[in-house]
Amino acid sequence: MTDERDRSGWPVSDALHIDSVAIRSGRSANGASLAAPLWATSVWEQSTLEEGRRMAGGTRAPAFYSRYGNPTVTAFEQAIAELEGAGAAMAFASGMGAISSVLFALCSPGDHVVCQRQIYSGTQLLLQGPAARMGIETTWVDATEPGAFAAAVRRGKTMLVIAETPANPALTLTDLDEIGAIKGPFTMVDSTFATPILQRPLQHGVDLVVHSATKAIGGHNDATLGVIVGERELVDDIWRYSVLHGATASPYDAHNALRGIRTLAVRQERACATAATLATHLAKHRGVNSVNYPGLESHPQYELARRQMRASGAMMSFDVGSGRDGARRFVESVRLARLATSLGGPETLVTSPPNTTHVGLTEDELAVAGIPPGLIRVSIGLEHPADLMADFDQALRAAAG
Ligand code: PLP
Repeated sequence: MTDERDRSGWPVSDALHIDSVAIRSGRSANGASLAAPLWATSVWEQSTLEEGRRMAGGTRAPAFYSRYGNPTVTAFEQAIAELEGAGAAMAFASGMGAISSVLFALCSPGDHVVCQRQIYSGTQLLLQGPAARMGIETTWVDATEPGAFAAAVRRGKTMLVIAETPANPALTLTDLDEIGAIKGPFTMVDSTFATPILQRPLQHGVDLVVHSATKAIGGHNDATLGVIVGERELVDDIWRYSVLHGATASPYDAHNALRGIRTLAVRQERACATAATLATHLAKHRGVNSVNYPGLESHPQYELARRQMRASGAMMSFDVGSGRDGARRFVESVRLARLATSLGGPETLVTSPPNTTHVGLTEDELAVAGIPPGLIRVSIGLEHPADLMADFDQALRAAAG
């Protein structure tokens, strides 16, 4: 926990429900203002040279130069740290800015990384391209196979273990207790699909949590932002690299995301309820082959979802069963939902992973990754569930041809 207190001296603590923490947290820059102030400046003046010297040589000076820290960004970081029950957080210019900064802050040439196969394609390409080029080797494991991560760790060689749960796009889960139990390398969990409302990986012993706050945390498709949380010492170490890497969060985006945080719990509650309704509906639909949703008893990791998540999430995927053409007809026929590749906003979004996020994979590679050609990924938004079901029904009729 951070030691943040609001104007009335009220400590924001675990004693509050997460919904209330989302309302009270991240107010250090507010003064008497209820809304977060926007510190739209890149630089501050100092009153003495000694003050400037201290800031330049210190860690995370909050009002010196915006690449080092910015009060609006700091408030966003504090809010996320509170929500995750973490000692510290650090924001970045994007989710990939966060992931790449952690990777290159912690790993050097000759080091080894263990990463799950079911992962966001950007993370996969980062490890396969730039990281490999710099002599950082990756072992890929199946996240659903018990013990796979620990078995791939090479003592004294593995610096970082990377997991993502729930994972893109088949909604596979990784057992957080298993990741938390790994000792030696740093462990990092991408919790973007869950948000801090649905799961808290640090409580399972994981070292770092990463979010693309571009998604549900920002929540309105108007911020590009990433964030990591963990123990202060580790986050400060990563900052010392990141201040040179320069994937710095914009105060404008942090401001938008702080506003998003205020409604995060209630948005998640509504989106998760709609997702459960829609998943149940689709699972019974004749035009659908299979549905991937951790809240369905048919999901192979249903019990794990119940154990480590407060609700089953707002993301799902399903196979229209009529191949790439059927998937194309579906995503081009929805009227209420929108065809777009992001997630976590107010609008329900549909996309065809084989044609977008995983476009570089061959049919064989797609099969290995558990992605059938007719797979549709859905980010459930805040529309009325009945309207969404009607929209999906008419688009499924179009998909059937
Ligand atoms: N992690 C996950 C699970 C994602 O879905 C994404 C983006 O889609 C990212 C990380 C990267 O985030 P950003 O686009 O903010 O860089």
